[in-house]
Amino acid sequence: MRQKISRRTLIKGGLLAGACVPALGLLANEASAAGLTPLSPSDPTAVALGFVTNSAKVDAKKYPTHTAAQHCGTCAQFLGKPGQARGGCNIFAGHTVPATGWCSAWAQKP
Ligand code: SF4
Repeated sequence: MRQKISRRTLIKGGLLAGACVPALGLLANEASAAGLTPLSPSDPTAVALGFVTNSAKVDAKKYPTHTAAQHCGTCAQFLGKPGQARGGCNIFAGHTVPATGWCSAWAQKP
């Protein structure tokens, strides 16, 4: 038994499939972020790089080149999207850092 599929049905199916692609991307992002844990400031590498969760609390004597504009959200190593509160970091694999954080590996996002 053959069923005839109308052009309208095909177009509807294509539009529905196209609408699902971005939704799947969001789910994949959440799934990959779910495997990461928040970086602890007491992590040995975090301590070595002067990591803080709030850039405003950077020790100005220890890091005199730090400025208020420097935080994870403006760092080239930050893997979160613009406006995201937390995201991965190329330096701290397996962890997320807050967009408000900072460490001495900070580099201006291009
Ligand atoms: S490398 Fe950049 S994104 Fe990662 S913790 Fe340091 S300042 Fe934040």
